[in-house]
Amino acid sequence: MSDRAVTSTNRATILDGKAIAAEVTAEVAAETDASGLRPGLAVVLVGDDPASAVYVRNKTRSAERVGFYHVQHTLPADTSEAELIQLIDRLNADDRVDGILVQLPLPGHIGKERVLDRVLPQKDVDGFHPMNAGLLTWRRPCLVPCTPAGVMELLRRTGQNLRGEEAVIVGRSNIVGKPMIQLLEQADCTVTLAHSRTRDLATVVGRASVVVAAVGVPELVKGAWIRDGARVIDVGINRAPSGRLVGDVEFAAAAERAAFITPVPGGVGPMTIAMLMRNTLTAAKRRLP
Ligand code: NAD
Repeated sequence: MSDRAVTSTNRATILDGKAIAAEVTAEVAAETDASGLRPGLAVVLVGDDPASAVYVRNKTRSAERVGFYHVQHTLPADTSEAELIQLIDRLNADDRVDGILVQLPLPGHIGKERVLDRVLPQKDVDGFHPMNAGLLTWRRPCLVPCTPAGVMELLRRTGQNLRGEEAVIVGRSNIVGKPMIQLLEQADCTVTLAHSRTRDLATVVGRASVVVAAVGVPELVKGAWIRDGARVIDVGINRAPSGRLVGDVEFAAAAERAAFITPVPGGVGPMTIAMLMRNTLTAAKRRLP
């Protein structure tokens, strides 16, 4: 990890996701150049949600920067599910496209699962297809969901071994919490998945030397719960009543106890896009005859 990717506070080293994501993106650009391939990413946006438009723009810009072929399809909010599925089928058949990303959320009249299931698993660079989820569970080659993959990259770049560590994930969504179980288990952690029905979350989190918070509740995980020397990765992005962006972890108090911690914003967020670029390159390499 470069010096610029970490900043020390009194206690914790802050994992600078922006700097680490820039390193990953530069690696992907160099590997793309060396491969002689032109990986292709298709991004599909339905409707005019402003936050989704920003995410899509950032993904497209990043694809441009690493030298990928990229195409964006922006469809009106009243697009039917059948029309969207027709587009997915066209992209599945398009040889220039190695990765297809359908930006979520989709309008309410469209069945999200029917659309995501339609993306060919080998082009599913978001790693949301049940086939990829199953392959990940069995530790077989697959496309890993970008945010959990970004969390692992941040943990890897601490330079600390994960073997035998007590990891606690808070949140059991299909896109973050559940794939985190597999990835941390594959790194030889002992893994606990906590969720909204967990009794005494403070004690459960307090056992962990690795904490991954993916809840969506501002500062739910209190600094006082954090075990001394823990590695704390905060996936949450929440808008506080003041308008400020905050994570799922009480950052300042947690940083006094943790050894490593991610900020919000500027932690996991930028890693998600970097890992999308990496997944697209991986998909392109796997499609070679
Ligand atoms: P989700 O809403 O699908 O799942 C949240 C999970 O948190 C649920 O499984 C629920 O059981 C658990 N939970 C809710 N209240 C709880 C409580 N009081 N105690 C313990 N667990 C509780 O959320 P998600 O899609 O996994 O996203 C979680 C957060 O991560 C959100 O803030 C989201 O914006 C953010 N996120 C960030 C990125 C990124 O790129 N940085 C990517 C995905 C999600």
